[in-house]
Amino acid sequence: MKDIIYSLIENEKHYPDQIAVKHNEDVLTYRELNRYADALAYFIKDSYKPLIVYGHMSPFMIVGMIASIKAGCGYVPLDISMPEDRIKSIIKKIEPEYIWNTTETQLDLNHAHILDTNIFNEVDIPNRFESQINGSDIAYTIFTSGSTGEPKGVQIRYDSLNEFTQWMIDLNKIGENQQWLNQAPFSFDLSVMAIYPCLATGGTLNLVDKTMISKPKLLNDMLLQAKINVWVSTPSFMEMCLMLPDLSEEHYESLKEFFFCGEILPHKTAKMLLQRFPSAYIYNTYGPTEATVAVTSILITEAVINQYNPLPVGKVRPGTQLTLAENEELVISGQCVSEGYVKDEQRSKAVFKDIKQRRAYYTGDKATVNDDLWFITGRIDFQVKLNGYRMELEEIEFHLRQIDVVKEAIVVPIYKSGKVTQLQGVVVLNQSNDDNERQTLIHDIKQELKQTMPEYMIPRKIIFRDQFPLTINGKLDRKQIAEDILT
Ligand code: AMP
Repeated sequence: MKDIIYSLIENEKHYPDQIAVKHNEDVLTYRELNRYADALAYFIKDSYKPLIVYGHMSPFMIVGMIASIKAGCGYVPLDISMPEDRIKSIIKKIEPEYIWNTTETQLDLNHAHILDTNIFNEVDIPNRFESQINGSDIAYTIFTSGSTGEPKGVQIRYDSLNEFTQWMIDLNKIGENQQWLNQAPFSFDLSVMAIYPCLATGGTLNLVDKTMISKPKLLNDMLLQAKINVWVSTPSFMEMCLMLPDLSEEHYESLKEFFFCGEILPHKTAKMLLQRFPSAYIYNTYGPTEATVAVTSILITEAVINQYNPLPVGKVRPGTQLTLAENEELVISGQCVSEGYVKDEQRSKAVFKDIKQRRAYYTGDKATVNDDLWFITGRIDFQVKLNGYRMELEEIEFHLRQIDVVKEAIVVPIYKSGKVTQLQGVVVLNQSNDDNERQTLIHDIKQELKQTMPEYMIPRKIIFRDQFPLTINGKLDRKQIAEDILT
């Protein structure tokens, strides 16, 4: 297959002035994207460490990604929503030679090589940069929540990324040069599902930022103005958009295809979407970051909706194998599987294994097969998804326990129609406090958590208990604690 870098060069030849990436008024054409990426790649060409790509939805984030792939070092995307402590701990682990700052703010990271767009004003940058990446090099490392309190860096090889991109191009039924919508922050691998299939097929990548997400009117304007054809988001984001009454085929004629991944696609959501867009192609896809974004897919038709509730995640993609371990845990094997967690042999060994000389990943998801279709039925551990964000309850508990006043903590996910809608932190304090002090404490606890964890991981409610019930084995009785707050 054509690789991503080759496709980008071809696109520049065929449509140099077409817009490759767009965020509000900030745009980059294919020519500009390649030129800037070549220039940055030249700066970082001798780096053996991944490039940290820092920012939010600037088109220059994409420049950083492409440049790092060309340079062969790959990238680590860090979104501005990450707290400083988390960013510092990731940087400490990666030990990057270069940081690409796409924001206006200066980074207080005590790092020698923080680069920004001023580098493009320097003279003596060669006009072209010949890509030096090999298939087995790491294209990107994305950090996800880790139960020990420390995030895990999932390393994805360039050949896995190309294989995934080709699969997406094959699934896409509406062809090249489309307007794609990317909702996910770049530190979440769902964004990979929009970036590379779009850029490899000469499309325009339209970036949704966090202000648009919080103000539906802005989002609506953007959707109408950009005439989006292909939509890539979490089902949760779709649910929010379905509240826009006009979001239907009648008003958004251009919208022809939807790709969902990252969490369960609720039957109700898919049904409503198909009613509003009866002629659109709607895909439910499934996969963990560790297996390059997604490994199964199914086109959601009326027949599928009528036959299955909950919906299946579909069939496996070519080159990948799915099997079930004894406990019904889903195991993914093939080229899509990550090289492992960066500098973390212990946690890598626990879930990455070789099966018949194929690299395999133990997902922690429980699954079944019915009518040749895969269904995800739950988890074997305490990982949950909230609004598409992956998190380990134990990581949140770890950070809660680090707080001075907290003696013990359990985080309880609250479910509605099979989906987590919020987290509640149940806490035993080191000393008893009266009700007034507790209100202040809730505020203080949340503030402390914000220093170490992204906003979406902070429990919405904090509830106090004098003590926790124990199981017969003397462990904290999670089930009982959850039942107590629900009754
Ligand atoms: P992430 O690594 O953030 O993409 O999260 C991967 C996890 O999200 C999987 O292991 C599943 O638990 C869940 N997941 C992803 N896609 C789906 C889907 N279509 N249906 C149900 N669960 C999903």
